[in-house]
Amino acid sequence: MKLLFVHAHFDDYEFTAAGTFELWRRQHPGTELDVLICTDGAAGHHALSREATAARRFREQATAAEQGGFRFHALKGADGQPFREARLHASPGFLPALWNEIRRLEPDYLFCPPIPADPLAGVHVDHLDVAQAVRSVAYLINVPHAYTPEYPQADGEPRFIKTPVIINTFDGYLMAGSPPDLAVDITPVADHVADLAWCHESQLREWLPWVDRHGMQADSDVEGWRRQFRTLMARRMAGLGIRGEQVLEVFRVTAWGTVPTLDQLRRDFPALEPRASRFETLGARLREWSGEPPAAAVVGRSRASVPADEDPSGGDASTIRRRLEMVLGGPPGFTTGARAEVLADLLSEFGRAEIVAAIRREWVVEFDTGPEASASVVKPRAEKPSPK
Ligand SMILES: [Zn+2]
Repeated sequence: MKLLFVHAHFDDYEFTAAGTFELWRRQHPGTELDVLICTDGAAGHHALSREATAARRFREQATAAEQGGFRFHALKGADGQPFREARLHASPGFLPALWNEIRRLEPDYLFCPPIPADPLAGVHVDHLDVAQAVRSVAYLINVPHAYTPEYPQADGEPRFIKTPVIINTFDGYLMAGSPPDLAVDITPVADHVADLAWCHESQLREWLPWVDRHGMQADSDVEGWRRQFRTLMARRMAGLGIRGEQVLEVFRVTAWGTVPTLDQLRRDFPALEPRASRFETLGARLREWSGEPPAAAVVGRSRASVPADEDPSGGDASTIRRRLEMVLGGPPGFTTGARAEVLADLLSEFGRAEIVAAIRREWVVEFDTGPEASASVVKPRAEKPSPK
């Protein structure tokens, strides 16, 4: 199996997915990993020049790659130059270079940062640009010649190139963000991951404590850093509402590339922690993306029975209604925990007004009983009049 991790900066891998890869390799011997860094690493030090910063960051990542057993690549444009931090989205050669590299490496799984669902969330512009770029080129991965005018040395041969499953990593800049689909228990390899991160000493011991963005202290020895690493990871999980002693790495599954099945993910991902993963909501989403009818055991009314004129596009209104059905009237065996997960998902993904409107439209009949009082009754689903 081949994994590709695409991110903006030197050290992003170690802070989001290194434990998962280490466990993946142990569970599936022969798994290969490529780490692709999309910026030049020249910005982000208070005492070094741009050139000195870039050179040091490159050396540090090369050391981590050697210790971590992965290949590391610095993305370059068709002109052979890397892309500047804070300028990715204004760099015309960025998408062609990324497209070419994904085609060249042909991964089964591609990991990259997420796009915030909440417009009020803060972002790191480089992380956001990488996320948007991966999403943008994903459909073109198997389209030969898509970018050969901009990247003439690309392999534009019309051979079939598989489109990977694309997974979003945790992003600290989005704070709590969306609740994760999958949580990997990396506790057994937490020290190993901390040691890989420790290779980035110009960040851990110099820049990050100085810039004071992540509440990081400068440790003088690796033992102190290992303890701090566990504290940072615990704080991250607390922000996601996940309690426990384990060190977890968390992921969301996208439909940007090939849509996997839940069975496939559970077979391929190592050490999934069932209490922090949300298999039921993820499974429902994957089935929806695949165009399969929702499992009868999960949703009371199958898609096939939805009148064609109700919401033929399967748009937001349809999604909200189906999830509300799971919360309010899921069949026997659909546990309170599962209902709570669906509800949390719904609230995190859609606006309050949309959800309230759906509830009123679908389940509540309102009576106007005069200026002093109002009343409503719950409308049994079966009594809903036929759609107009
Ligand atoms: Zn970063």
